Amino acid sequence: MSDSLERFQSELLRFVRSVYVGDERRVVYGEGAAGAPLMLIGEAPGEQEALQGRPFAGRAGKNLDAFLELAGLSREALYVTNAVKFRPTRLSAAGRVTNRPPTREEVALMRPWLLREIGLVRPRCIATLGNVPLQAVTGAKLTVGEAHGTRVDAPDAPCPVFALYHPASLLYRRSLTSVYERDVAALAAFLRSL
Ligand code: URA
Repeated sequence: MSDSLERFQSELLRFVRSVYVGDERRVVYGEGAAGAPLMLIGEAPGEQEALQGRPFAGRAGKNLDAFLELAGLSREALYVTNAVKFRPTRLSAAGRVTNRPPTREEVALMRPWLLREIGLVRPRCIATLGNVPLQAVTGAKLTVGEAHGTRVDAPDAPCPVFALYHPASLLYRRSLTSVYERDVAALAAFLRSL
């Protein structure tokens, strides 16, 4: 039987359930159509994404809309997903469940699934948002500080991979805004040239 996104999703769910036995963590799948020209890869779902079952929901979705406007792209041109498909959490000192970045082990566990997803979507180009997806896709210790705004080496990806800062990082590093805007313009020009 040929592979499909539907089959991928049901096998992924079964895999996550088998690794985290008894833990009903929500698996948040990618969104968009196979064949979308651009695949955007974030880090992992946060609280809103886990509640709504969609990547880049809530505040992160506003970032995504701003990205689309900057790049002159429509939502249909995109397939959006995350390097890790479940919400990594921790207990705060006040006893609240909060987000945390995924661990190296979680990223490594999910990497084969990400590569399979990329093979199914077959985008013309991938843009990684921040360090976690950059390292997950390239398999290298590259940082977004070194690579942002450029095409990076990704031997396991079937298409060009372009590194961007995570738009959420602009919230606490305002000085990155003009850098990010320049990088998105470079990505848009690169996409037009494909
Ligand atoms: N929401 C996501 O789905 N991914 C991110 O990387 C951040 C917020």
